[in-house]
Amino acid sequence: MKFGTYMFENKKVPGFDFDLFRVKPEVGRRMPPEPDMYSNIAIFGDNVTARNHPDWISQSALGPAWRTNDNFNVRWDILCATQPEHRAEQLDYMEDVARKSPGIWLNSIHFADHGHCICPRCKALHEKSGLSWYEWRRKEITEYMAATSERVRDRAKSQFVIGVLPDPVTNYERFGVNFDDLAPLTDEFLVVMFSKNYATPWYWEMLTRNFKKLFKDVKLNIALYVIGPGDDPRETPTASELLTVSVRMARAGVDGLLYLTDKAYQMVEFQKQMIAQKDARERLKSYGGKAGQEVLDLVTSWEKIVE
Ligand SMILES: [Zn+2]
Repeated sequence: MKFGTYMFENKKVPGFDFDLFRVKPEVGRRMPPEPDMYSNIAIFGDNVTARNHPDWISQSALGPAWRTNDNFNVRWDILCATQPEHRAEQLDYMEDVARKSPGIWLNSIHFADHGHCICPRCKALHEKSGLSWYEWRRKEITEYMAATSERVRDRAKSQFVIGVLPDPVTNYERFGVNFDDLAPLTDEFLVVMFSKNYATPWYWEMLTRNFKKLFKDVKLNIALYVIGPGDDPRETPTASELLTVSVRMARAGVDGLLYLTDKAYQMVEFQKQMIAQKDARERLKSYGGKAGQEVLDLVTSWEKIVE
């Protein structure tokens, strides 16, 4: 197993195998990539571009994909996935970032959600395709990811990781995502499983097993939520929950775990809190043999490097 940081700050934290920097998160802000950190880019979730081009927002019968539309589980503004200028600009941007960092890890690669997008361009493209609605959406996402993979892997010679949302069964109907289409295009998969608590580890373990089955031999990375920008620490997952869910995902076969914080000092704080879980670390030794033990060994290794 590999363990990574996943942060909004461009600062590596000792004790992890790799660091993933949020070069362009869904708020749309862009930061320069770092030569020794992987770069995380959200493509269609992009508040800045949506503000500059409100006519590019994704459309549906239940309204546009503004973050204020409570008909959907949208936390940011989501652009139409066929908008040609945004697509072209993002391809150039991703290739450029790929040349300046060891790899690109993507989020928000897909249609906003079920029923998106019904803008005039999407309607015309669908009609012209002769395909069913779902198959046309799948083709749009797969072809764009193929173009992205060609830019990042083939031209920039960089690592390429596609991120998907934590829905193993209806990703196709909701987002136009077909895992079998994407598997040959990506080096590994990332599934973001953010939650403000992990009090029900049984479900997270089940999702891990589901994705392992669906991704076959392509590696599964899962991102866990520690603390995000502006969070009240009292409303974030406890260290005990994070340790337990990590061990249980490990025994279900996850290949990589990433931990999200806003700043680097919060990642060090998280390491200290994990070290302090003496009882849980002891109890979890019986959970799942070698794989679970890798998580516990990671925490033990932090004892030597975290003050
Ligand atoms: Zn559209």
